[in-house]
Amino acid sequence: MVSYKELGLVNTREMFAKAVAGGYAIPAFNFNNMEQLQAIIKAAANKRSPVILQVSKGARSYANQTLLRYMAQGAVEYAKELGWENPQIVLHLDHGDTFETCKSCVDMGFSSVMIDGSSLPYDENVALTRKVVEYAHQFDVTVEAELGVLAGVEDEVAAEESHYTRPEEVIDFTSKTGCDSLAISIGTSHGAYKFKPEQCTRDPKTGILIPPPLAFDVLAEIEKKLPGFPIVLHGSSSVPQEYVKIINENGGKLPDAVGIPEEQLRKAAKSAVCKINIDSDSRLAMTAMIRKVFNDKPGEFDPRKYLGPARDEMQKLYEHKIVNVLGSDGKA
Ligand SMILES: [Zn+2]
Repeated sequence: MVSYKELGLVNTREMFAKAVAGGYAIPAFNFNNMEQLQAIIKAAANKRSPVILQVSKGARSYANQTLLRYMAQGAVEYAKELGWENPQIVLHLDHGDTFETCKSCVDMGFSSVMIDGSSLPYDENVALTRKVVEYAHQFDVTVEAELGVLAGVEDEVAAEESHYTRPEEVIDFTSKTGCDSLAISIGTSHGAYKFKPEQCTRDPKTGILIPPPLAFDVLAEIEKKLPGFPIVLHGSSSVPQEYVKIINENGGKLPDAVGIPEEQLRKAAKSAVCKINIDSDSRLAMTAMIRKVFNDKPGEFDPRKYLGPARDEMQKLYEHKIVNVLGSDGKA
């Protein structure tokens, strides 16, 4: 049993309370490898933004859970070395699907876990979430739960049919489970193909797809039922078209990739939404730079020469999100 407190990590409780009161949101960036982690920590340290390092089940099996935990511990020390005196860094399990997975993360030094029972019948979601909360709270680990189903694909998480969170369920759910934050479904979606072309309109000039707006009325209803309660948005990448273009111009094939417009996320960040999950955008930034180097310099075979530019681009992306979308700069 390792406590996250020994690793210099923090849970989400105070961070979320400040974010809700201050009208901004905390970035939750997924990581699977060293370059992503370096970029996240450099961006957060530069901008003095609290940050949530997210690890999915897929990341745990890809990178090895022990190694990931030590990487997060290293991230705290690295942040200090960068001059960030009191780093506010959370290590969070993204989409935990069983009690056992959540327990093993709590036991291994995670400061926050998500239990995603959103695909279960309501009563089973309540029971499973409650069980995780009871375990995690003994160690002061915070718990994110989910109500409503997001569309899209993210690692092992995939849903064909999405439905919005039902505002009439949120009071009952949060009081029965004791969860610390709630992921809701209001039209965001996992992956780089968040909407089918037929769900969108097309910009007549550029041919780029314009996605349907988020259901801010549902969010407002939920906020009214749970004043000040921390709300989480998953699947909130914007799929920057400049990256899609670089990828497609350098041998890639991502037709009609589309995300959530940043102005909608900015609006959400000012509400009770206090955690915004971004994964696909960093995958796109990384892929775009690697493809470009491979295309421009076919003789290059030193991984540092293509992972380095990819890392720099991801840092740029993270800083942009922190400053221009989430508003979390200067808050840690
Ligand atoms: Zn998610």
